[in-house]
Amino acid sequence: MRFRERIERFMQGRNGPDALSRACSVASIVLLIAAVVTQSVGARVAGSILWYVALALIIACYWRMLSRNVTQRYRENVKYLNLRDRALGFFRREFRHAGQLRTHRFFRCPRCAQRVRTPRGKGKIRVTCPRCGSAFIRRS
Ligand SMILES: [Zn+2]
Repeated sequence: MRFRERIERFMQGRNGPDALSRACSVASIVLLIAAVVTQSVGARVAGSILWYVALALIIACYWRMLSRNVTQRYRENVKYLNLRDRALGFFRREFRHAGQLRTHRFFRCPRCAQRVRTPRGKGKIRVTCPRCGSAFIRRS
């Protein structure tokens, strides 16, 4: 039997690589680089801690890929994807708002904490929250 076929047979019924294990391996590489840098600076204890965390991540990554409990691994991956997308959405929104700061101001609705965008330089304005409908006065 060729090597490739043996690997394929071995991986049958196992989880294999998914988004979470890819993120895990990238994180472990980053941690390994951080460990090398930290130890070269002379912080030996901190470097060893980083090294062990990276090692644990690599082990967890391979354990997940070889796991036969595909349903549970799938759930973990979905959880990770949801968290990642929420974090990405947050940063995209913040970047977009930061790009609009010259022309717009952002306020929080005092009642429901919804973020409301208004044009700048219009003096005192009455802002109506698009979510809950409550109105408040702000200087734009
Ligand atoms: Zn509101």
